[in-house]
Amino acid sequence: MRVLVVEDEPVLRDGLIDLLRGAGHSVVAVDNGEEALARGSEAAVEMLILDLMLPGMDGVEVCRRLRDLRPDLPILMLTALGSEDDKVRGLEAGADDYLTKPFGTKELIARVEALARRARREPEPVQSIEIDGCRIDLGRCEAHRDGEAIALTAREVALLRWLFHHRARAVTRPELLEAVWGARGDMQTRTVDMTVANLRQKIERDPAVPRIVTTIKGLGYAWGES
Ligand code: CA
Repeated sequence: MRVLVVEDEPVLRDGLIDLLRGAGHSVVAVDNGEEALARGSEAAVEMLILDLMLPGMDGVEVCRRLRDLRPDLPILMLTALGSEDDKVRGLEAGADDYLTKPFGTKELIARVEALARRARREPEPVQSIEIDGCRIDLGRCEAHRDGEAIALTAREVALLRWLFHHRARAVTRPELLEAVWGARGDMQTRTVDMTVANLRQKIERDPAVPRIVTTIKGLGYAWGES
């Protein structure tokens, strides 16, 4: 499995990387919540090991947001010893399991394997969406229209996923910045507009008359025609 490790403590992070690689997994590691959100939304990541206490955006917040973006991503939360509240917060935010620090290496690997087995058994999440003659394959970062394959970036897929998941309502630009870019106020909402414009060029039949990612005046964007 491709595992994303999110841990700000360097010694523990390196230990986790070695351990997981030794067990045959491929590992990507980051040390903060913002990067965790960005990397975790990529379809290539198949499991998340997430420290609860992180500088900036904490593990609970990362977990909550990734759960929205990727409902089926297995998430193992690392919590501090004896903190009952932390465990509950982690599980409430959507973690599948938790491990209390300090933990034994065998126990960690056993938990990871259990989550991996469960993930393999579960049916595939919604990975393909058909809309306005365009088939969007979220898992493979690809769209198809009129027999042509269109490559999508991980960011575009994350944006589409968020809009689809929240298709009952309009989504604001700041919300998209936070959810898809992991940004907190220091980025321009114009980034969202530029990404949407590029995406429309790729997947809309007529980018001037969008039917997949539509603009809701004064609010932001929405999935499909309103
Ligand atoms: Ca920490």
